[in-house]
Amino acid sequence: MKRASCRGYPPNIFFPGDPNGKNFHDKRGLTRTKAAFALTICERCPVRAECLTYALKHYDDKYMPTDDGVWGGTVPWERKLLLQSRAI
Ligand code: SF4
Repeated sequence: MKRASCRGYPPNIFFPGDPNGKNFHDKRGLTRTKAAFALTICERCPVRAECLTYALKHYDDKYMPTDDGVWGGTVPWERKLLLQSRAI
């Protein structure tokens, strides 16, 4: 996404639970406080809605880390909640 505000930032800002960039941490443990800097970048992102839609659509895709880190201004537990609320 060329218009993404996160373009050029190191990935570990958006995946702060794992300093090595690997998925060895508790994905669902990421809090908004821990992800605060990334979330401020998402706030001014022109493709935020598309990013969130993509993350929700691919949440269970084992090849995409959309159940981890910050996507579309949300942390994993918020995306899980959104998906659960849509399933009702
Ligand atoms: S909304 Fe998505 S594309 Fe935009 S800054 Fe946040 S993570 Fe990056």
